[in-house]
Amino acid sequence: MLSDTHEDLRAQVRAFAESEITPRIPRMENSGDIETGLVKDMGARGWIGVTIPTAYGGMGAGHEAKTVVVDELSLHSAAMGAAAQASILGVAKIDHFGTEEQKREWLPPIAEGTLLPTIAVTEAESGGHVLGMASTARRKGRGWVLDGRKVFVGNSAIGHLHGVVVRTGEGPGGLTAFLVEHDRKGVSAPPHPPRIGLKGFSFGELHLDAVHVSDSHRIGDIGDGLAVAYSSSVLYGRLNLGAVALGILRATLAQTTAFISGRDRITGLGVVRDRLGDITAHVKMAELAVYHAARSLDRGEPCDQDLITAKLHAVEAAQHATRLGMRTHGATGLLTSVPMERFHRDALCLEPPAGTSDIQRHRLAEEALTPGRHRPWSQRFARPLTPAPAPAPDTLLAHTA
Ligand SMILES: Cc1cc2nc3c(=O)[nH]c(=O)nc-3n(C[C@H](O)[C@H](O)[C@H](O)COP(=O)(O)OP(=O)(O)OC[C@H]3O[C@@H](n4cnc5c(N)ncnc54)[C@H](O)[C@@H]3O)c2cc1C
Repeated sequence: MLSDTHEDLRAQVRAFAESEITPRIPRMENSGDIETGLVKDMGARGWIGVTIPTAYGGMGAGHEAKTVVVDELSLHSAAMGAAAQASILGVAKIDHFGTEEQKREWLPPIAEGTLLPTIAVTEAESGGHVLGMASTARRKGRGWVLDGRKVFVGNSAIGHLHGVVVRTGEGPGGLTAFLVEHDRKGVSAPPHPPRIGLKGFSFGELHLDAVHVSDSHRIGDIGDGLAVAYSSSVLYGRLNLGAVALGILRATLAQTTAFISGRDRITGLGVVRDRLGDITAHVKMAELAVYHAARSLDRGEPCDQDLITAKLHAVEAAQHATRLGMRTHGATGLLTSVPMERFHRDALCLEPPAGTSDIQRHRLAEEALTPGRHRPWSQRFARPLTPAPAPAPDTLLAHTA
């Protein structure tokens, strides 16, 4: 159940999506071109700055509001939901690790939508094993020289301010993060190879060839790079991807319901109704998991397990539900003029970012076997929203039982 404020926000996003995004989907699908203009328009509406504190010009509306934005965008276009979340994600490192000076310099233009941030961690060889990265920064005078190749960076081609995590030393404490402008000498983002889904969203390579930056571009302390990477993916990324998956789930339910409703021959079939029931349950469970995690973050509660579960469950539910939707559409599902196949392709693209399902399961098992081994990232970076959101209904039930 959303508050009136969140319902209003959802209505604004829906109006934008219907008038600006939906008409452009055929072009995105056919050309695969990156929709720079749409992402800028979303930024101009303040949505990239939804979690930026009001003191820096942002909406200061927290993670539930962010989830509403990404969920609703993704109902219309998962590519645009993914693009919005990729830059919303880029805010985390500045908000949580930036100096006051860095926040004053970078957060206001992000909040205005004139500067799109990214976070660039992944490398081809190391993949999800962040500590395996090989890109480096070495000291030169008072500054640094960065070299390396990042892959699958969200908004790589359209981002203005890349947050790159690179090696400055050995071991887990040997990673450091830097802010690098897209037009700085030595920075390039090569054209993307074609991808199966999320067409219109740029997730590609970022090359750093002898890029000189001053020490004022370092974000966090030397050695904070792993924490910077995790603050982005654990705190923001998992929930964001869960919200994209939820949007796809809602779209799948609407499309499959409409398809069945118009066909008397199959409407009454038990197997078809069972699938629709399953898709509905997937939507409801994903909604509970995703919004519960968002509200927990906004209350400043330790909720790493909830964030993991939201991502794991919503993404796998979206993959399963879109498969059921495809089956239910029969051969019609294979037509690119019907959006069902797009939902299915887009859902497949959500598994790797912010940790594959294998990694999420591994993290959940680790905590189950050795509880409290790691201090939760959500507790480390807790930033309760003021005023705090109302307790979730399940909490109320627990108190009154
Ligand atoms: C749409 C999209 C957006 C993205 N956005 C960004 C971004 O903004 N910034 C960024 O830096 N990166 C981004 N990524 C990259 C993403 O973080 C990586 O894809 C992810 O970390 C996994 O790396 P990999 O794809 O190389 O797979 P690998 O890590 O090579 O994994 C390959 C396979 O091995 C399994 N595996 C690997 N290690 C383990 C393990 N320890 N235990 C169990 N199984 C394991 C995986 O589950 C998988 O099945 C994005 C990717 C996509 C698809």
